[in-house]
Amino acid sequence: RHPDFYNALPLLRQIEAAGFEAYFVGGSVRDALLGLPIHDVDIASSAYPEEIKQIFRKTVDTGIQHGTVMVLDHGTGYEVTTFRTESTYQDFRRPDHVTFVRSLEEDLKRRDFTVNALAVKQDGTVVDLFGGLEDLQARRLVAVGNAHDRFHEDALRMMRAVRFESQLDFAIEAQTEAAIAENAPLLEKISIERIASEFTRLLLGIARKAGVTTFLETGLFKYVPNLANEAADLRHFAGLPEAQLPDAESAWTLLATCLQVDAGKLLRDLKQANALINHVQHASALVGALPDASPLQLFDAGPEAVATAAVVQPYRHPDFDADGLLARYQALPIHSAKDLAISGQDLIKAGMTPGPLLGKTLRHLTEQVVAGRLENEATILLHAAFA
Ligand code: ATP
Ligand code: MG
Repeated sequence: RHPDFYNALPLLRQIEAAGFEAYFVGGSVRDALLGLPIHDVDIASSAYPEEIKQIFRKTVDTGIQHGTVMVLDHGTGYEVTTFRTESTYQDFRRPDHVTFVRSLEEDLKRRDFTVNALAVKQDGTVVDLFGGLEDLQARRLVAVGNAHDRFHEDALRMMRAVRFESQLDFAIEAQTEAAIAENAPLLEKISIERIASEFTRLLLGIARKAGVTTFLETGLFKYVPNLANEAADLRHFAGLPEAQLPDAESAWTLLATCLQVDAGKLLRDLKQANALINHVQHASALVGALPDASPLQLFDAGPEAVATAAVVQPYRHPDFDADGLLARYQALPIHSAKDLAISGQDLIKAGMTPGPLLGKTLRHLTEQVVAGRLENEATILLHAAFA
C-alpha cells in the first residue's frame, strides 16, 4: 500500500517472472508495518547478482561482493541483495565471507532482530519465521535465535539494539538484554565510527531516556571512548526532559555539557567530522557561559552555535529564555569580523605594517564594537586603531 513499495512492485514481479524469489525486507518493512515513514526499500532475492543484471537493463554494481546490485527504475535506485548467509565471524565483527544461498530462511536467520527479519512478497504476504509480527505488536526487540551467539558474531548488534530501543521506543526482551550485558566488552572490537553512528541515532531517538538507560545498565558505555568514567553524568543525562532532539549538533552539545569531558576531545576520539566537532565545541562553550554569556561570547559562538545553544539549554534549565538568547545575538552590533566598518586593507592604507599586530588590532576593534564600547564607524575605528 505504501507508495514506495507500490512503485517497486514491478521489480519484484520481473524477478519472479524470471523464475526467482524476491521480497521486501529489512527496516522499510518494519517501519511501514509500524506506520512510520520509510527510507530505502530493500529487496532480497534468490537470484544471484549476475542473474539480477540479466533481468534488468540498468543496474549499478554498488556492493556486488556482498551480493547487492542497484536496479535503476524510472530514476529511482533499488538495492537488490542476493539471499546470503554470513559465516565464520572470527573477530566479533563482520563475517569473513558471505555465501549466496537460494533460501529465504537462511537469509532471514542471519538478521539481527525478529522485527528486522520479516519479508513481504509482492502479493502482500508477510513471511514471519521468528515471531517478528508478534514482537512488533508488543514493541519488543528480540534477537533472532540465540542472543549470546548473535552478539558474538557481530558485536555492533548490541549498539543497534539500544539504538532501535530509542529510535522505535521498543523494549529489549530480557534474554536479549542479558546477552548484551554479558557481551558488552566485545564492543571493543568494533570500529569507533560504527559505534558512534549508532550512538548518535540513539541520542536522536524518541525514547532517548530508555536507550541511554540500557546503554548504562548493560555496561555498553564502558567501551565507548571517554564515557567509561561518566556513569553518574550519563545517568543525569538520561533524566533530562525526554523531548526528541532535532539534530546531531544539539544532541552532542547536550551530552557534552553534561559530562566532565571536553567536547572537542569527545568527538575527535569518536572520529566525527570536523564541521560537527567545531559546531559542538562552540555551542558547548556558549552553553557553559549561560545564562550570563557576554556579547563577545555570543559573537565568538556564531549563529549556528547560538541556535544550537538555544535548543539545548532548555533541556538543562526548563525555564531558560531561549528566544531571549536569540534576540541578544540578533541585537549584536556586528555578527562577523567582515561586518567591521574597516578592513585590514584600510589599516595598511592608513600606514600600518602587515603582520601580527594588524591582526591583533582588528580583533581588538572587533571586541570593542561587539561590546558596544566603540561605534562601528570607519573614522572612529581608524582613530582607535592608531591611538
Ligand atoms: P535503518 O535503515 O532505520 O537504520 P534498518 O533495520 O533498515 O534500519 P540497516 O542497517 O539499513 O537497518 O539494515 C537493513 C537490514 O539488514 C536490517 O533490518 C537487518 O535485517 C539487517 N542487518 C543490518 N545490520 C545487521 C547486523 N549488524 N546484523 C544482522 N543483521 C543486520
Ligand atoms: Mg535501512
